[in-house]
Amino acid sequence: MKSLTELVRPNIQRLTPYSCARDEFRGRKASVFLDANENPYNAPLNRYPDPLQEQLKQELAQAKGVPAEYMFLGNGSDEAIDLVYRVFCEPGKDNVVAIAPTYGMYEVCANINDVEYRSVMLDKNFQLDASRLLSATDEHTKVIWLCSPNNPTGNCLQRSEVERVLREFPGIVVIDEAYSDFSHERPFRADLPLYPNLIVLNTMSKAWASAAIRLGMAFASPDIIGLMNKVKYPYNVNLLTQQKASDMLRQKGKLHEWLTTILNERTHLMPAVAELPLALQVYPTDANFFLVRVADADRLYHYLVERGIVVRNRNRVALCQGCLRITVGTPQENCELLAALRQYKA
Ligand SMILES: *Cc1c(COP(=O)(O)O)cnc(C)c1O
Repeated sequence: MKSLTELVRPNIQRLTPYSCARDEFRGRKASVFLDANENPYNAPLNRYPDPLQEQLKQELAQAKGVPAEYMFLGNGSDEAIDLVYRVFCEPGKDNVVAIAPTYGMYEVCANINDVEYRSVMLDKNFQLDASRLLSATDEHTKVIWLCSPNNPTGNCLQRSEVERVLREFPGIVVIDEAYSDFSHERPFRADLPLYPNLIVLNTMSKAWASAAIRLGMAFASPDIIGLMNKVKYPYNVNLLTQQKASDMLRQKGKLHEWLTTILNERTHLMPAVAELPLALQVYPTDANFFLVRVADADRLYHYLVERGIVVRNRNRVALCQGCLRITVGTPQENCELLAALRQYKA
């Protein structure tokens, strides 16, 4: 791996970050806070929240098995994705390499930051070829984007290929594990000590059923986390989100109950869809959604919308021609979907 100093943008390396009022007093005891121009009334909403979310990180450390110093928290994973560009990629000069098809935000954030985005197609089984991916990199490639289980394909990337990328690429490798709770594969966040160039993304938006609170996580070496903290907005995770996330973490039983129900539903829904004459192919998945290939995806998509059922049309995504992406819902929702699909006349 190149040194972090070689990888980080020079202006970020030199940056003196904003120092907030609470940073300066940190660690000492006080009861009269006249330092931040806050209104003394309306507690607890009157106070700025903890900029580094220390308490929530301690709780997440327990839940995730990742030490708090290896953790960045943001306004959804989307904030972490954008920060990776702003920390490492010089606009108009550096580039990133990503698998395709994959989650759309990696490319949108590249475009916003004026960073060249190179995509390397997965094979027809949606698998990664490390050699082909690495051969798309050059001396200006700062970041490789991987997603496993991958969105929209649903499958985990083959571990040996991912490990090869981690070993052989001298820059930053991001593995987005937004769906890892639905999979039986060992998550890469457990391997952080082995790979100083690894950033793993997690979110409370999927298995934790809390997309509305916007809490995303990045796990990486304390040095990388330090760079992300230097660039983020000082109070990027608001108090209500920090409290709500904490509440959710205390309901671990709920998580397991939801996971069991969703995975059980998936086990019934996928073969039921596969049996329908309209299904040309149902792809295996490690996530809470799956792809189905049909003869006329646009027509089926609009048919379902007419019936008040919204799925994701991936017909115009490379390698996903003819595919709809279906999220596993409640038993009732899945029944409605199946009933509608059974009445569809091809
Ligand atoms: C849904 C999803 C996310 C979640 O993003 P948030 O901003 O945390 O809601 C991240 N990555 C992938 C691949 C996703 O599908």
